Amino acid sequence: MKIIMLGAPGAGKGTQAKMLAEKYGIPHVSTGDIFRANIKEQTELGMEAKKYMDQGLLVPDELTVKILLDRVAKDDCKNGYVLDGFPRTIPQAEVLDKAVAELGESIDYAINVDVKDENIIRRMSGRRACLKCGATYHIEHIPPKQEGICDKCGSELVLRDDDKPETVEKRLKVYHEQTQPLIDFYSKKGILKEVDGSQDMKDVFAAIVAILG
Ligand code: ADP
Ligand code: AMP
Repeated sequence: MKIIMLGAPGAGKGTQAKMLAEKYGIPHVSTGDIFRANIKEQTELGMEAKKYMDQGLLVPDELTVKILLDRVAKDDCKNGYVLDGFPRTIPQAEVLDKAVAELGESIDYAINVDVKDENIIRRMSGRRACLKCGATYHIEHIPPKQEGICDKCGSELVLRDDDKPETVEKRLKVYHEQTQPLIDFYSKKGILKEVDGSQDMKDVFAAIVAILG
C-alpha cells in the first residue's frame, strides 16, 4: 500500500504516519526527517537544506526529489510506504507519479489531515522532537513520560529551529501557496481522502484506518 499524507505543517502527518507504518508494516518516509538527520551529521546535503529550512522555505525540488526517489527505491519500500512531507509541490507530485507508474504501480491514497491555521501555531510551539529517532511529542497533548526525554530512545527532546512562531507563519504561507494545490491534484485523480485532524490523535487514526481498511 502506498499512502501520501497531506496537510499543513503541524497538522499531525508525522504522528499518524508513524502509527500507520507500524499497523501496516510499511516504512514511514519523511523528507523532513531525512533532511534533519543530514543536518545532524553535517553532510553537504544537510548544510544545503538547512539554509532553506531555517527560513521556513521549501528545499528546492531538484534536491528533494532525488533523496525521495533514492529512499523509495530501497528494498524495504517494495510493499509500499507512507510518505510524510512529500510531495509538497506539483512538480514533486508529477515526478513521484512518473516513478511509480514506471514500476506499473500507483499511489493508493492521499490522506489530507485538515487542521485550521490557528490550531497549527499552537501545535507547533508545543511540539518537541527527538532528533535521534524522529519521535514527536506535544508538551500538552502528547507529553513524554519524563519531561524533555524521548520515551523511545532516551535522548533529549528539542523545539525544532523551524517551529519558532515567526518561521511557522512563513511555513504556513508557503504551504498555502505551494502545497495546498496538491489537494486538487489528488482529488482529480480520485484518490484524495479527507480527515478532520483537529480530533484527538486516536480518533484521527481511527478515521484513517476506516478509509484504508
Ligand atoms: P506534521 O508531521 O504534520 O508537521 P506532527 O505529527 O509533528 O505534524 O504534529 C505536530 C504537533 O502536534 C506535535 O507536537 C504532535 O505531538 C501534536 N499532535 C499531532 N496530532 C495531534 C492531535 N490529533 N491532537 C493534538 N496534538 C497533536
Ligand atoms: P517537515 O519535517 O515535513 O515539517 O519538513 C521540515 C522542512 O524540511 C520543511 O519546512 C522544508 O523546508 C523541508 N522539506 C521537507 N520535505 C520537503 C519537500 N518535500 N519539499 C521541499 N522541502 C521539504
